[in-house]
Amino acid sequence: MKKVLFDEIHTLEKQKFLKEKMQQVSNEIHSKFTKLEKVNNCPVCQSKSIHQYTECFGYEMDICDECNHIFTNPFPSYEALDYYYNSDLKDFENKFFMDSFENRIPIFDRRILEIEKYLGRDSQLLDVGSAIGIFIEALFRKNNPFKVTACDLNQKACLYLQDTYKGLEVLNENIYSLSKPDSYFDGISLWDTVEHLTDPDRFLIKIKDLLKPGGYFFFSTPNTFSFEWGVMETDHVQLLPPGHVNLYNSKNIKIILEKTGFQVVDIQTLNASLDISYILKNYIKDSYSPLEKFILNRLKDDSIFFESFNDYLVQTKSAGNMLVIARKE
Ligand SMILES: [Zn+2]
Repeated sequence: MKKVLFDEIHTLEKQKFLKEKMQQVSNEIHSKFTKLEKVNNCPVCQSKSIHQYTECFGYEMDICDECNHIFTNPFPSYEALDYYYNSDLKDFENKFFMDSFENRIPIFDRRILEIEKYLGRDSQLLDVGSAIGIFIEALFRKNNPFKVTACDLNQKACLYLQDTYKGLEVLNENIYSLSKPDSYFDGISLWDTVEHLTDPDRFLIKIKDLLKPGGYFFFSTPNTFSFEWGVMETDHVQLLPPGHVNLYNSKNIKIILEKTGFQVVDIQTLNASLDISYILKNYIKDSYSPLEKFILNRLKDDSIFFESFNDYLVQTKSAGNMLVIARKE
């Protein structure tokens, strides 16, 4: 399967303008809306032991000393988020997703192989937030092994999906008022979204309600217990408030899932080549130790070493994006 590399997934145009655009929209938000009260507890494990991690685009990001959760404190208000998600950043984002569409397919191919271990042919699968349909495309290239329902809030995206994929059920609906009964789906998928949610507990409970007993929830989100986070820390490109408001890790994701009625079945970090290519791109720190410099030079020059380090990160589940497989109890 094709190796995925940072520059192919995140187009150069995105890398060039994202920070600038984020800063611009954030400045508008800070001048228009009043901030909410700061919270005193970690939103995942409730520990009172939290401290400032960094500041990004005028938002304070805190970290929990107990479970290492990283979160925006205070969380952005509903009005601020509404403004953010309706700003022209959304068009900018859609464009670079379109530009990197084909390069993103292998990411989903790997995820589908995992899903197929849990869902049989013709299982009812709900894909939440299908957007421009990269996951749907990857499924249809495999002759769509499941009975898929796509849902998205964006009407344009839904019309596109309906026109493009014959036989796909498309719902232009909000998950909280979905026209499907409880305990309907064998599986639900959600890609790179939970990090955007300010109220993940409510969302996860809704997902659980839509699943049959024993049904599976498949989702991906950044993993801060990873090689790339270990190197980049507060310079990490995924520190993107008010978009990314909750950054989980492979340990504390269990806490929030168990709290909302799920049992974690497996966690995989499948695309470690993204970590390595991202770090090599940012290979600029004089502060790296001789060992770090040696390893980074080897990764740059030696493709066999690159491959074996990639395999090591996958085996030890220490790459920066995790696929979580959870089961409704
Ligand atoms: Zn915590």
